[in-house]
Amino acid sequence: MKVLVLNCGSSSLKYQLIDMNGEEVLCIGLVERIGIEGAVLKHEKTGKEGKHVVEQPMKDHKDAIKLVLEAIVDPEFGAVKDMSEIDAVGHRVVHAGEKFATSVVINDEVIAALKECIDLAPLHNPANLMGIEACEAILPGVPMVGVFDTAFHQTMPESSFLYGLPYELYQKYGVRRYGFHGTSHDYVSKKAAEMLGKDIADLKIVTCHLGNGASIAAVDGGKSVDTSMGFTPLEGLIMGTRCGDIDPAIIPFMMRKEGLDADGIDNLMNKQSGVLGISGVSADFRDIEDAAKEGCARSQAALDTYAKRVKKYIGGYAAEMNGLDAVVFTAGVGENGIDMREKIASDMEFLGMKLDKEANHVRGKETVISTPDSKVKMLLIPTNEELVIARDTLRLVK
Ligand code: AMP
Repeated sequence: MKVLVLNCGSSSLKYQLIDMNGEEVLCIGLVERIGIEGAVLKHEKTGKEGKHVVEQPMKDHKDAIKLVLEAIVDPEFGAVKDMSEIDAVGHRVVHAGEKFATSVVINDEVIAALKECIDLAPLHNPANLMGIEACEAILPGVPMVGVFDTAFHQTMPESSFLYGLPYELYQKYGVRRYGFHGTSHDYVSKKAAEMLGKDIADLKIVTCHLGNGASIAAVDGGKSVDTSMGFTPLEGLIMGTRCGDIDPAIIPFMMRKEGLDADGIDNLMNKQSGVLGISGVSADFRDIEDAAKEGCARSQAALDTYAKRVKKYIGGYAAEMNGLDAVVFTAGVGENGIDMREKIASDMEFLGMKLDKEANHVRGKETVISTPDSKVKMLLIPTNEELVIARDTLRLVK
């Protein structure tokens, strides 16, 4: 069975075609600048040198998906002979509110429910819905599954998801913490149990998804009991360009001082903050680390502040779970940031975390990076959200 995994952003689309017999990725690609001048598709076939690049105007996601399907059946770069070989489509959907705690087969009711969640994720859910509608039109009759970023965190207890705001706001508008990156936290926590040869039901794990967007989850017995992102992906850790936790009173203060409206402040907190805002150099940790080494004090401050926030969450979640067996690092910075992992894991011996500096000298490979006598195991696990989506899709359409 072959599953097409689609991850639609507002102007971009990532995809993989996976053969579920052996879970082999057949081809992978990215479309950028959908609906904008300079739209481009970049497609790679597994095992074949070079990229198939198509530069062509695409007015919407339907145009983009048509080109993706053409690339997938391309005589030279394609992975299948005919579109009919695509058995199912798995869509990554950002926000399902409280409606779905697991992945579901997409039907009219699901689409209607996702439309109701647009208010909660105005940037992401419309793009996800466009992808779903485009597939319905171009691949009629092919079953589709929605896999939600929020679903894994639906097990959080009320004491983790409520804000200290009037309860009526939760009842009226769904103002509560939802959490994101669920497929990633789910995947790496299960993989950690597998690598440690333990039953996940017996483990208390903190999973650190440190990418451009970043979140941490407390996974107790395989269930998310708390996570750092909240009502939106802005809460929690300091990220590439997002501020994470701040005193909410700063918002009206800055609006008055800088003459910003709601969109202006939203843009400042989402796009101009985080390690980019602190360093003034870049949102990319490689650039910031280079600048810090050359003596840029603001870059050093960005790295120090970032690491301290991660440490705070690890300690907090250990307290919340009344114990800690493992800490997992994943996503761009978590998988590749050797220095950042060392910074986060240092001076955490009181909690039972002892880093093996030599073992930590690795990028993008499943590795135990704690010392053999470390009470809390530390692991580097590359995330694979596409595989989780494809597995859920297979399970539900079978
Ligand atoms: P992601 O959102 O998971 O794709 O992560 C992207 C981020 O990973 C980039 O913005 C970089 O900051 C970070 N990253 C990638 N490679 C490295 C590296 N070698 N060292 C430190 N950070 C890295």
